[in-house]
Amino acid sequence: MQRNLGVARNVLSSRLQGLVDEGILERRLYSERPERYEYFLTEKGLDLWPTIVSLMHWGDKHLPLPDGPPVILIHKGECGGVVNDRRICERCGKELEVRESRATEGPGLAAARRELEAV
Ligand SMILES: [Zn+2]
Repeated sequence: MQRNLGVARNVLSSRLQGLVDEGILERRLYSERPERYEYFLTEKGLDLWPTIVSLMHWGDKHLPLPDGPPVILIHKGECGGVVNDRRICERCGKELEVRESRATEGPGLAAARRELEAV
């Protein structure tokens, strides 16, 4: 996760803890030696999905990166269509719920990482 986001470990840890404190993520121990945790979205976090999708598309439109969007949402499974700003699959036309989509790397991700590292 740290490598994908391009942020320092302490920054990531602090941000994740903030989301846990707000009840958006839940931290679960999955290995005792070494001690490791994984993070899951709570119902409160899952309910943010429509807002996050809207913000992603707003950013892609109004603050575009030269190479394109950093992240693209696609319809999970065989369809693989791109999810639009109304959370509808552009290939099959289905209105999607949070668990029916997944985020994939977009063409602008490398530039977005460089920008984060420069901050
Ligand atoms: Zn689809």
